[in-house]
Amino acid sequence: MCIRDRYDANGVGLAAPQVGILKRIVVIDIGEGPVVLVNPEILETSGEQTGQEGCLSLPGQAGIVTRPNYVKVRAFDENMQEFELEGEELMARAICHECDHLDGIMYVRHVEGQLFDVSDEPEEGLEEE
Ligand SMILES: [Zn+2]
Repeated sequence: MCIRDRYDANGVGLAAPQVGILKRIVVIDIGEGPVVLVNPEILETSGEQTGQEGCLSLPGQAGIVTRPNYVKVRAFDENMQEFELEGEELMARAICHECDHLDGIMYVRHVEGQLFDVSDEPEEGLEEE
């Protein structure tokens, strides 16, 4: 399984540890093309948004998570050029979610209440831990 396979699996983001790559790299795509963040560092957050969040590592499940509505992050791109990126709403949520993965934090830790099933055909067991 490669990053490309997972990228096609309808997620908006992916963190390298999810595919067994132990580097601080995430790929985020909220529909505007993929953004590669190497060694991302969140510089600034503000505001608050509460909404449904899921993860490719837990297919078919989602939960309600509150995240900052605005995030500013500094990272290197795939050519190791440093850049800063600002995101709001879904982009801010994706940045927080993916950066959490780099620290080994799953979104379920932030979920308010219970996880719920969002798949039409529930899968048997999970693909990965
Ligand atoms: Zn995730």
